[in-house]
Amino acid sequence: MIFMEWYFILIIVVGILIIIVIVFYWLYKLNFPLSPTGNISENIVCIKNRIANVYIYTKGTDRVVVDAGFSTKGMKKELMKMDIIPEKITDVFITHSDPDHIGGLSIFSTAQIYFGKDSKVQHHDNYKFVVNNELILVGAIKVQAISTPGHRLGHTCYLIDNEYLFSGDLLRLKAGKVKPFFKLISADFDQLLESIRKVAKLENVKMLFTAHTGYTTEFDNAIDKWKI
Ligand SMILES: [Zn+2]
Repeated sequence: MIFMEWYFILIIVVGILIIIVIVFYWLYKLNFPLSPTGNISENIVCIKNRIANVYIYTKGTDRVVVDAGFSTKGMKKELMKMDIIPEKITDVFITHSDPDHIGGLSIFSTAQIYFGKDSKVQHHDNYKFVVNNELILVGAIKVQAISTPGHRLGHTCYLIDNEYLFSGDLLRLKAGKVKPFFKLISADFDQLLESIRKVAKLENVKMLFTAHTGYTTEFDNAIDKWKI
């Protein structure tokens, strides 16, 4: 009798676990249409590491990385596919310090790492904390930090060479339109909405990149509803 009860409990628990896995799988498929590892354009490479995208921007011999992915092992493997050696990367710009954005950080062992000023992260010698509108020159590459709190307090977008906007988890793209990043996993949703309106004011943006929902070459069209 006792055996039967445990047997039924086990079936129920396994059943619930299977349902949870299926639900999460579909949520993942629906909400996180990641870009595959590969070249997006002449100067931009996309890396897919588990649930997040990392972007690498190159100009001549200069190169910057935006975000560091979820895992060291996965990042190394994907970078190898693109013939990119992590030890040769000099500058990595982090949008925020969630595990899917800094999990692979240690592979960039010789790089300068940039975080938004209010990021909750332990300080290291090679970490630099940037403020809103700060300009960082990496050789010929110009990186502008844009403070965009909401999802996380120190969340920062990076506008590279005035035309390429890397938005981390500020927003997501759905059917070519900008939607806010998920309210459920954002620290301050009203602040996030305000931050979207802030980047919507940017002019001459050619491409917009997200960490989990791909990118668009139609920035103005994608964000037009936020230009208020
Ligand atoms: Zn994320």
